[in-house]
Amino acid sequence: MKILSEKIKLKYLIIGLISLAFLLSVASSLYSSYERSIALLEEQSLEKNRVYAQKLSQTANLFLEHSIKILDYSASKIADQMNDEEALNNEVMRLFHQQSSFNSVVIANSEGLMLAGAPDQYRLKGKTITSKEGLEQLKKQTISISDPYRASTGKLLITVSYPIFSSDGQFKGVVNGSIYIHESNFFEQILGEHHYHDGTYVYVVDSEGKLIYHVDKSRLGEDVSKNQVVQRLGHGDSGAQLVTNKLDEEMLAGFSPLEKANWGVVVQTPREVAIHSVGEQVLTIFYFELPLLFISIIIVLILVVKITKPLQQIATLTEYSINESEMGNLESLNAWFYEASQIKKALIRSLSFLHGQVSTLKDENSIDPLTNLTNRRALDSVLQSWTVQGKMYAVIMLDIDFFKSINDTYGHTIGDEVLKFLSFQMRNAVRGQDICCRYGGEEFIILLPETGIENAFDIAEQLRKRVESATSPSGKPVTFSAGIAGFPKQAANPDELIELADRALYEAKHLGRNRVVIAEAKNQL
Ligand code: GH3
Ligand code: MG
Ligand code: MG
Repeated sequence: MKILSEKIKLKYLIIGLISLAFLLSVASSLYSSYERSIALLEEQSLEKNRVYAQKLSQTANLFLEHSIKILDYSASKIADQMNDEEALNNEVMRLFHQQSSFNSVVIANSEGLMLAGAPDQYRLKGKTITSKEGLEQLKKQTISISDPYRASTGKLLITVSYPIFSSDGQFKGVVNGSIYIHESNFFEQILGEHHYHDGTYVYVVDSEGKLIYHVDKSRLGEDVSKNQVVQRLGHGDSGAQLVTNKLDEEMLAGFSPLEKANWGVVVQTPREVAIHSVGEQVLTIFYFELPLLFISIIIVLILVVKITKPLQQIATLTEYSINESEMGNLESLNAWFYEASQIKKALIRSLSFLHGQVSTLKDENSIDPLTNLTNRRALDSVLQSWTVQGKMYAVIMLDIDFFKSINDTYGHTIGDEVLKFLSFQMRNAVRGQDICCRYGGEEFIILLPETGIENAFDIAEQLRKRVESATSPSGKPVTFSAGIAGFPKQAANPDELIELADRALYEAKHLGRNRVVIAEAKNQL
């Protein structure tokens, strides 16, 4: 977890999360577009097929009505000429050619004997109507449109039959126009021209639900009465609906009854074909969304960089701000949003507190609490660093004369006050760069950087004179003795230097105190 948390940057985390959100929203928008498009395409296809079915049934109705009218005209024309062979022949020929959608036309007498027939090739003249359906039509003596039946010729046909009555009202026979289902016929002329490239096709069923027209001729005569749409047609309904055909294919079917003949027209499109373009539509929507998506991603990237930048800067600057002098950079950082500004404030508070603590600790470690001078530990480290740097410097080591007796005479507290007094005098006597240090008890060392021995001597002498002429807290003047040594002239390291200064101090004591003595180099001793 730790390794992972170090690797995941907030920037990438935010980018990852936002990308995921984008992906999900694009996917869901595409999915809903996909669903909507399918529903829309289905609806469009159903409506289109419904309208077509209605139109086709109307056209077929008109055709049948027209056919009946023509037969009506012929029937009245030949009603009194049933014995005139030539007139009958002429009439069937005229009918056949005029109403070219009939595959054949016959005039039969009341017994069913065909008196004339066209076209010649079927040699209908002289034959007798024997089929059950044909005879029934003859018997009915009314206008009738049959369901498909097999005629004596062996052909599957539909017959539009019109009765012939002579002017005195006697039934003389029928004039029949037949449509041969398996041959080129009027359905093809009306319905077949509606040829669609999108897989849509038309079929017509008779009153019993048998196919009387279908693009696939091999299916003609097939019973499709189980089909939901055909059943609805049987009830005289028109409309459109999704239906599953015999081959288990989903079809978007529009349907309308063909009232004149009790038939029904169905126009249907395979659902798969109708919704085929959905992919293209969704892709178009996607392309449409793409520029917006692209702009959003750019904006997000810019924002992410803007959000993570202050945090990164805070991290870097916090590290630097461990150093108190670098805190200003953290303080001037533009933490422009709430959380970043809170983090910045908290860090500045914590760091300031830390710096305070460190400086206190620093003071505690390097300052002598009684005199406020540098303590011996700090002195050692300064000497060490100056020596490493190869800096030239001098030391004055001093010790109060007869301090024991001051303590003994005036008490330890006054003794302490004398120590503070001497410290004050020392600080006043030295230069800014010099360091005054309490070396221990009533012994002090003054460090004088870039200072020669003679210079150091002068400073020590000045101090000595000032102290001896001042009144100390004891009410009387105090004096001190001092020894001086210089680096690197007289010693090779700090320890040697201190030792030399100490010897010089001892020499000063020995010579009678209240004096300053310059050390002699070790090899001179
Ligand atoms: P000399 O001139 O030879 O230096 O004589 P002296 O009496 O000063 O002798 P020494 O340096 O040996 O005496 C040091 C005395 O300083 C001993 C101790 O009681 C006293 N002393 C050391 N530290 C302190 C302190 O912090 N406060 C006080 N009041 N006295 C201290
Ligand atoms: Mg002493
Ligand atoms: Mg002393």
